[in-house]
Amino acid sequence: MNFNYLYLILITTVLSASEIQPALQWGENVTGIVTHFHSESKAIALTFDACGGSPKSSQYDEKLIEFLIDNRIPATLFINARWIDSNPDIFIQLAHNPLFEIANHGTAHKPLSTEGKSIYGIQGTTSEAEVIAEIEGNNGKIFALTGKHTHFFRSGTAYYDEKAVAIAREHGMEIGGFSVLGDAGATFSAQKVTQQLLSARSGDIVIFHMNHPEGGTREGLIEGVNTLLKEGFTFVRLSEVKEHLIRIP
Ligand SMILES: [Zn+2]
Repeated sequence: MNFNYLYLILITTVLSASEIQPALQWGENVTGIVTHFHSESKAIALTFDACGGSPKSSQYDEKLIEFLIDNRIPATLFINARWIDSNPDIFIQLAHNPLFEIANHGTAHKPLSTEGKSIYGIQGTTSEAEVIAEIEGNNGKIFALTGKHTHFFRSGTAYYDEKAVAIAREHGMEIGGFSVLGDAGATFSAQKVTQQLLSARSGDIVIFHMNHPEGGTREGLIEGVNTLLKEGFTFVRLSEVKEHLIRIP
């Protein structure tokens, strides 16, 4: 065995070791996820997921959106490709309303893993290629329908590993995490939703759902937003604070 051959074996071993380096983190709060923004004023970002994939999950809380429109409350809407397919006309209306920013809630609503991890019994993506497909599939759909690029991504279940987050950021996407759990998948009572929203402080990002009109989200949100308005809070879309984002180190 000559020196060159040994060297080749060494290099190949080092390279494959780095390729199979497992992800170290798995969750809603891993390195690189945006959870807050810096703000000099009393500003909060409201975000709403629309998940799709079943008749129940493809619903539209029209009265919630009407409340936002009537009160000129801006919001970021994280919309999944399957929800768009079930609600094409509503999607176009929302995308053309300047009050709202359309963001990407995934193509197949999968947790974003580089190695096939699962959460809540939902199988995550299994490779870098699948991570990219989960992001770019819906980005392409949204661009084809609206001519607009999205800048924020939130996976189905909002779970990630840090390698998947890094891949998303390499593809120009910020990961829209959150600092206040607004409705826990629309499972909270109206009272609990209000309580959660009123715990928000300046620079917080709050997560809700706009696809479960049967839950407590709408009623609790209206109560909470009305109180925050009286307290002098304003609301922002995530792109408005793009220069002031705070990410998990
Ligand atoms: Zn979802």
